[in-house]
Amino acid sequence: MPNSLNPRHAVYAGSFDPVSLGHQDIITRGARMFDRLTVGVGINPEKRPLFTPQERVDLLQRVLKPFPNVEVACFEGLAVDFLRRRQAAVMLRGLRTLSDIEAEFTMTLANRALAQDIETVFLMASEKYSHISSSLIKQVAMFGIGTDDNHDPLESFVPREVITAVRAKFQR
Ligand code: ADP
Repeated sequence: MPNSLNPRHAVYAGSFDPVSLGHQDIITRGARMFDRLTVGVGINPEKRPLFTPQERVDLLQRVLKPFPNVEVACFEGLAVDFLRRRQAAVMLRGLRTLSDIEAEFTMTLANRALAQDIETVFLMASEKYSHISSSLIKQVAMFGIGTDDNHDPLESFVPREVITAVRAKFQR
């Protein structure tokens, strides 16, 4: 019998490069469903992220302030191993599109083969955020310039606490 995992503790893993309004929505809903939620910032050596792992953690920490039952940590390697280390029994995922479903289906089956005691739970993205992805945020930051001092187009994609950090990455 594998050591027992907590069914009231979920992990929401991803790259969070950077945390978006869509991620924030899944975190808000997940924090209501579970006693404890850990946001796992995955370090993938094959990817070249915009933000370092520590920067991504710092941005998430700002966004997570209102949630006493949510914490954040970095991990390398397989997400299921990270869940085991944290003793979490639930993998929380967000679903945006049909292509997300296809990729998530394959990943869930692989994770189940690796860890039968871990269950994946999907939350459907809210329709107002289902178009948001990290790559879209980077494109908006690169090409979308605010029309006046009070409005930045990034406001529709990332939490307010994240805008300055994204803008700073694209300053020449
Ligand atoms: P991205 O695909 O934008 O780079 P991540 O790899 O960090 O995001 O995604 C981590 C998890 O969050 C995945 O389950 C992904 O489907 C989900 N997710 C990403 N963006 C959104 C969104 N806008 N709404 C809901 N879930 C999302």
